[in-house]
Amino acid sequence: MKDRTLKLSIELVPSTVWESSVYKLMSREVWDSIRNDFIKENGRKCQVCGETSGTMNLHEIWNYDDKKHVQKLEGFILLCRMCYHVKHIGLAGILANQGKLDYDKAIEHFCKVNDCTKKEFEKHKAKAFEIWRERSEYEWNQDFGKYKEFIKQ
Ligand SMILES: [Zn+2]
Repeated sequence: MKDRTLKLSIELVPSTVWESSVYKLMSREVWDSIRNDFIKENGRKCQVCGETSGTMNLHEIWNYDDKKHVQKLEGFILLCRMCYHVKHIGLAGILANQGKLDYDKAIEHFCKVNDCTKKEFEKHKAKAFEIWRERSEYEWNQDFGKYKEFIKQ
């Protein structure tokens, strides 16, 4: 893999915080209003690849402090269906096994957006899973930053 920042990267949420995604911790109304505000400000388009058609998913951006084990919410971006599947490639694999998604399409999308080869995808994926396994060994404290007030208690 060339040493560069990928436009579209895989982000695997540690299994120890799967049950506490912001989507689950916020009321549907708040979630929808964040999504609507985002679209009003940035347009209804994928922030990674520029796609404007199809389903758009609001995606949580997390920052991981691997020393203190704090997962911090940095904000949100809007992603098209394929970018969303790449970000959550673990889930994409499950959906593919259930016949609900063409996994190769997700790989193709990754390669197109990042202008890279399938081999580079496999390398990046292996690394992402390695980090995921490490992070899943720990309990994480969550910091919701400026979104704290919207979290259900
Ligand atoms: Zn996209």
